[in-house]
Amino acid sequence: MTNPEVVIVGAGVIGLSVALYALEKGVERVTVLDRHHPAAGSSGWAVGIVTRQYVTPIEVAIRARSLERFAQLEAEDGLGIVRNGFLRLGRDPAALEQFATGVAIQHENGVADARLVTPEEVGEIVPDLDLTGVLGGMFGPSDGYVDPHQLCQVYLKRIHALGGRVHSSTRVVGHGRGARLRHRVVTDGEPVEADIVVNAAGPWAGELGDLLGHSMPIINERHQVCVGRFNRPLGYVMPSVMDYVVGSGAQGAYFRHEGSDQLIGGLHTNELLGQASENPESYRTSVDDAYVATVAEEWLRRLPGLGDMSLVRGWAGLYPMTPDAQAILGPYESDTTVLAAGGFGGLGIMLSPIAGKLIAEWIVDGQATSVAGADLFLPRRLALA
Ligand SMILES: Cc1cc2nc3c(=O)[nH]c(=O)nc-3n(C[C@H](O)[C@H](O)[C@H](O)COP(=O)(O)OP(=O)(O)OC[C@H]3O[C@@H](n4cnc5c(N)ncnc54)[C@H](O)[C@@H]3O)c2cc1C
Repeated sequence: MTNPEVVIVGAGVIGLSVALYALEKGVERVTVLDRHHPAAGSSGWAVGIVTRQYVTPIEVAIRARSLERFAQLEAEDGLGIVRNGFLRLGRDPAALEQFATGVAIQHENGVADARLVTPEEVGEIVPDLDLTGVLGGMFGPSDGYVDPHQLCQVYLKRIHALGGRVHSSTRVVGHGRGARLRHRVVTDGEPVEADIVVNAAGPWAGELGDLLGHSMPIINERHQVCVGRFNRPLGYVMPSVMDYVVGSGAQGAYFRHEGSDQLIGGLHTNELLGQASENPESYRTSVDDAYVATVAEEWLRRLPGLGDMSLVRGWAGLYPMTPDAQAILGPYESDTTVLAAGGFGGLGIMLSPIAGKLIAEWIVDGQATSVAGADLFLPRRLALA
């Protein structure tokens, strides 16, 4: 479509990245609406880890392209990227085989420093780690983490510089046919007309999808974060250590350095936990006692030398998941002027660049070309109408 009027609902990392790429691709009228303000949703609760340590071609490609974008934002806009490294631990031969494949795919994607590490090297990278049962690892020394709030600010600054509009305190409450344009997006203020509407409402995307008449089956999973404090500097930089193997079916412990004398993390999985979907309006944002006890046990088992660390509560946020634990990204077949951009689970900060790029390609070019196989993310995969 030539020069469409685009309305994006949701000013989290995904909606903001979509807006920015659309503007950069030459779309002149881009408006982001948020019921609260940028980063008010899941984006404001994230730990911010960005890594390419994955094992399939498409998973590595979308991460590699995303981290290239972060490097551009770092160079041009001062986005802070702490490159503390990312270490995935392998505890069985099958995991090590996966890692070898992952490293080879990363090299093909230009991630030259990704490498397999032996248990001895794991011990050099994390001197406090108990190596019992560790057969090796996959290590990306230049992976790291970003501050999701700062990332949103960087996206915002660029959006404003390119003439995009971001309206806070504007809640979408309905949808109909416009008098002038295809869509009339009804808000709790003035209605907005648009040629294209993008659902980037994170944990609210299911509700918004119902308003738009195009379903988004989002399952909101509550995930908690703990903070460990030492009473002394650690003396080395703790990479993001992930003791979870993708596809293993179980949650794994993870932690990373935070400031000079803290670790932050908890338990993570990319897969569905099978919880009932949480209501984003009323879920519990504080951390459960039982969770702190479990994380204390899991961290101490891995880091027995850090027994003097005191564990404090962090917070709980929502992973917006989908039934097959993959993001939903692109136009609906029944109306290609409505696009889905959600369901990023625990990966949305990291994947926000590629999500924005692919959606902008769908809007402007009618196809997503920057990553081979991106059609896999289309709503039609789940037979969504
Ligand atoms: C504890 C925790 C740790 C995490 N750690 C990481 C990590 O280390 N790395 C990583 O990559 N990801 C991480 N994530 C995941 C990441 O935070 C999410 O995948 C990502 O933030 C989703 O972004 P989003 O833009 O889709 O949604 P959101 O950030 O939730 O944005 C959606 C926006 O839509 C707005 N909205 C909703 N409904 C309406 C409406 N009707 N009208 C107008 N506006 C509306 C909301 O106000 C909100 O601002 C973590 C998440 C949690 C909870």
